[in-house]
Amino acid sequence: MGKQEDFVLRALEERDVRFVRLWFTDVLGSLKSVAVAPAELEGAFEEGIGFDGSAIEGFARVHESDMLAVPDPSTFQILPWRGHDDGRATARMFCDIQMPDGSPSYADPRHVLKRTLSKAAEKGYTFYTHPEIEFYLFKDSYQKGKRPSPVDRSGYFDHTAQSFGADFRREAITMLEAMGISVEFSHHEGGPGQQEIDLRYADALSTADNIMTFRTVIREVALGQGIWASFMPKPFSEHPGSGMHTHVSLFDGDQNAFYEAGAEYQLSETGRRFIAGILHHAAEITCVTNQWVNSYKRLVSGGEAPSYICWGHNNRSAMVRVPMYKPNKGQSTRIELRTIDPACNPYLAFAVILAAGLKGIEEGYELPREAEDDVWALSDRERRALGIKPLPKNLSEAIEIAESSELLAETLGEHVYDFFLRNKRKEWEEWRSQVTQYERDQMLPIL
Ligand code: GLU
Ligand code: MG
Ligand code: MG
Repeated sequence: MGKQEDFVLRALEERDVRFVRLWFTDVLGSLKSVAVAPAELEGAFEEGIGFDGSAIEGFARVHESDMLAVPDPSTFQILPWRGHDDGRATARMFCDIQMPDGSPSYADPRHVLKRTLSKAAEKGYTFYTHPEIEFYLFKDSYQKGKRPSPVDRSGYFDHTAQSFGADFRREAITMLEAMGISVEFSHHEGGPGQQEIDLRYADALSTADNIMTFRTVIREVALGQGIWASFMPKPFSEHPGSGMHTHVSLFDGDQNAFYEAGAEYQLSETGRRFIAGILHHAAEITCVTNQWVNSYKRLVSGGEAPSYICWGHNNRSAMVRVPMYKPNKGQSTRIELRTIDPACNPYLAFAVILAAGLKGIEEGYELPREAEDDVWALSDRERRALGIKPLPKNLSEAIEIAESSELLAETLGEHVYDFFLRNKRKEWEEWRSQVTQYERDQMLPIL
């Protein structure tokens, strides 16, 4: 047993922990949890805890369903919203999923990300990410068929007295920090009831774990206040959607590999090629970064969400943005990817983003010219003349492009790739046969 495992076993005693939740994520990004008694943990570290993989979305077929959850001791945290001073403290750890022979499960999204991170590590790179997570807060609880009511009518950066959002954010951030997740900024976003909380830079695996924790914490805090929170990408046609813009960079040792003093926007050749990789493969990876039918409603309607494959410096209509840099702050050189939404599976999304960027570096892709205009305001012809292509317009288009993507198949691995595309095709087919209120309102009065 290693040092970290020993630390966890000691902490369980010292903190009087009664339940340990083992967390992992299914292929579509839902959190799964099994609670074990502290006495089981030594065994769990050594051999894992067995479960039925065929009951987890995307994990296994019934005839090969035995799987093991092996806790990662570096992710040990006490859950602040479960009793802790009353002898009923609950802790959690994220798990790696193994097959009975001890090999990593090909279906585990955490493994998909780890495999891609190790490809980057072979080239000497560590991948850092910083997500800006947006979400809506609604009154009361969810009621099927009813239009949700946002908790307030404020807008971007609004500061209002006795603001619901500000109180909510304060409580959520306190809880996140109690779990070791540092928050950099938080504010009211553009839509009524819409909030944004930005997590501090961390390596991509920690960030993906943190996003899973974040979504749980936000929902817990909301329920505790008698409201509900949603990461749905586009809950209203007339208000901005919720994105999860993610700032990314590669480090080579302690040096930011995207930084070059004196270069345009302080961006090194590695940084330029990484962006070129993301743009080149953008259409293929969109079904992972934006995985729901609803995700595409956000990507077609402005509201600062991108619709076209291009990059720009400080241009918020571009899909990839090189944020304003501060002279002498080379280590913070980074790029912001604006497609990704908060309802993605963060492990898979980070894996495909990294794979696309690395491909750009490996193949030496040339970065196209930057988009200087507001690309939404240009005509189709003007965009075509500039070589700017659109992102997939809906989930069906995204799947079709993904179906012939070698990059995606290689990065996700055969099992996840097949399951994912099959599942998404089914979602699209279901949606295709829905008759909506919009159609009734348009047609019934006149036809
Ligand atoms: N809510 C916008 C989106 O869907 C982003 C707004 C912003 O620039 O932060 O991407
Ligand atoms: Mg925002
Ligand atoms: Mg942003």
